[in-house]
Parts: sequence; structure tokens; C-alpha cells
Amino acid sequence: MRALLSIDYTYDFVATDGKLTTGAPGQAIEETLVAVTQSFIEAGDYVVFAIDAHEASDQYHPENKLFPPHNLVGTEGRALYGGLADVYQANQDNPLVYWIDKRHYSAFSGTDLDIRLRERGITELHLTGVCTDICVLHTAIDAYNLGYKLVIHEHAVASFNQVGHEWALAHFKGTLGAEIV
Ligand code: ZN
Repeated sequence: MRALLSIDYTYDFVATDGKLTTGAPGQAIEETLVAVTQSFIEAGDYVVFAIDAHEASDQYHPENKLFPPHNLVGTEGRALYGGLADVYQANQDNPLVYWIDKRHYSAFSGTDLDIRLRERGITELHLTGVCTDICVLHTAIDAYNLGYKLVIHEHAVASFNQVGHEWALAHFKGTLGAEIV
């Protein structure tokens, strides 16, 4: 059984004036990302939106020292970007579409993702979203350590760091044994 993870494709990470934006590379994957997501929903697969949720008052969060405030709960910056927002809105009552608020880079950190996947007999994870070398990477590493097979949708991941993006794609394939499609 397979599932799709859709990671952090929000206004703050993609829009030109987003707080921590991937900009043009992030915007360039919109069409592919939406099409892949739609195809998984239509196939009846489990689709998980794993989305950063930060609080301005969270003074102990390590990202405070690394990045400007982003994806703050209750702000428009946390809304899904572009066509992906429409796909989610049209399917949010579908029990196979699941939303996870995450506090760290990995979708597995402090969430119930692993048990939700295991309950459904899912062994293969398809990853999409941003940033290739941060949240997608950390999610992939956790998935690898938990024994999942990985498939990375190369044209549905992006980063603000092109060197990091290319490095992460090589790491997925050469070190995590992922299939790149
Ligand atoms: Zn964050």
C-alpha cells in the first residue's frame, strides 16, 4: 500500500512575498504537484498534508534562531498555495485525506503519522512539496529509519537552495534508496 505526503506547500513557502519563500522554483512545481496529488486522491490512496505550524510565542523553538517567523498559526501564510489549496478544499471531508500540523522539519516528529500509516498497511511513501533539502529531506530520513520505501517526485519538490535541492535528490537515491520519478 502507498501513501502520498504533501509537505509545506503553503503561501509562506511558495508565494513571492511569502515569509520563507522558495520563490520561482517553488512556484514552478505547482502544476505537477497538484496533478500528482489529484491522481493519488482519485486512486483512493491515503494523502497526508504535513504542514508547519509555528506559534509566535514559542520562544524555545530552535528555528527561531535560524529563520524568520513563518507558517504562524492563524495567518494566511499557513494556507496551502495556489491550486493545491483548491484540491485540499474539495477533498477535506474525504477520510483518506489527512492534515497534520507539524512543529519540526520532519512530518514524523511529534506527530501520529507513523501509526496512521501502519494502521493502513502502508509501506511505500511518495514525497512532494518543499523544501527538498529541509522538510522533505528530514521526513525522508525518518521514513527510511522507520523502514518505509521512498518514492520522490522530482518535479514536485523544490527549494530556495538549488545546490541543496540537487544534493538532496542525490541523497534520496544514493543513500536512502529512494526511487526518483
Ligand atoms: Zn518551520
